Amino acid sequence: MKVALIGVGQAGGKVTERLARFDADMGFDAVQGALAVNSAEPDLQSLEFVDTQLIGADRVNGHGVGGDNELGAEIMQSDAQQVLSGLDGRITSKSEAIFVVAGLGGGTGSGGAPVLVHELQRVYDVPVYALGVLPGRNEGALYQANAGRSLKTLAREADATLLIDNDAWHEQGESVEGAFETINGKIAQRVGLLFASGEAVEGVGESVVDSSEVINTLRSGGIATLGYASEVASDDSAQNVRTVMTVARQALLTGTSLPDATTADSALLVIAGEPDTIPRKGVEKARRWLEDETESMQVRGGDFPLDSDRLGALVLLGGAERSSRIEEFMERAREAKRAAEGERTDPAEELTDDRLENLF
Ligand code: GDP
Repeated sequence: MKVALIGVGQAGGKVTERLARFDADMGFDAVQGALAVNSAEPDLQSLEFVDTQLIGADRVNGHGVGGDNELGAEIMQSDAQQVLSGLDGRITSKSEAIFVVAGLGGGTGSGGAPVLVHELQRVYDVPVYALGVLPGRNEGALYQANAGRSLKTLAREADATLLIDNDAWHEQGESVEGAFETINGKIAQRVGLLFASGEAVEGVGESVVDSSEVINTLRSGGIATLGYASEVASDDSAQNVRTVMTVARQALLTGTSLPDATTADSALLVIAGEPDTIPRKGVEKARRWLEDETESMQVRGGDFPLDSDRLGALVLLGGAERSSRIEEFMERAREAKRAAEGERTDPAEELTDDRLENLF
């Protein structure tokens, strides 16, 4: 899938840079253009691999917005035209999707990403998705509250929001801050593989996954999640059948970007590896298992031929907002806003009800 990436804020810029670098190092050529936008100049200066654009200089003079995501939204609103012009040549007729990348708990990305998604939707026909980083449980109340409002607004504006929980992809015992490098590396590898699936030219055949399958899986809208796991492939095909089942299970149950999100409207299972080692029987069995587990009638599947001695499973879920994790998070965000009254409701409804205000 040919994509254009726009990182907003510190986390957005760092993750965008890692993604662009991974794609280039692997020679996938799925990332067509990457731009990092921020109101904090020092954060932009630390990026080497992507072009950068400072916004809000007239308001905050390159110093950032602190944790004020309303200011982040205002600045993006004022400078949206400038950002859209900066995207000229980066979003081309080949682009199949645009991803706006941001940490949802801060200020510039939290407030700016939903505004930018809204503006991009007005200009481009391709889907505009958000790749959002949710603050971990131990991050402060301001992060939780900011992320709640940002997520709610993104759910309204973006074609889908792929969520990465900062608690999901790092080792136990590691602090979230210390783990940023690890997490960003995993996001780059996993989301990078998702972008690249459908780009494979060798071994094109009926079973090879196509970018339209990624887009169709995300058509459910709402919240999307991504899981990944891999194991060394074997010379024995019966063993590879078992391995495919194992990695598919692990990708959904323990390797996911949003722990405990297993119910979804749609799903895509991509098995990556050397074409000779990918067992049809195993892939079919894993796909049926995924159907049962997600309770979805729309489970797509496909191979991603890759020069590797491993077999990997990528599981993309679309329409995964009815999960306990989202419920728990929205509750955390509301508590942080001291608005935690009333009984629990359906988390999908919480994304549209009025207890957390939209950012705009
Ligand atoms: P902004 O620059 O104002 O948009 O704020 P940040 O991007 O620093 O957003 C803060 C949120 O993003 C917090 O929840 C942080 O935990 C998270 N965050 C900041 N940097 C990183 C990073 O490099 N990787 C990840 N995964 N999360 C980050």
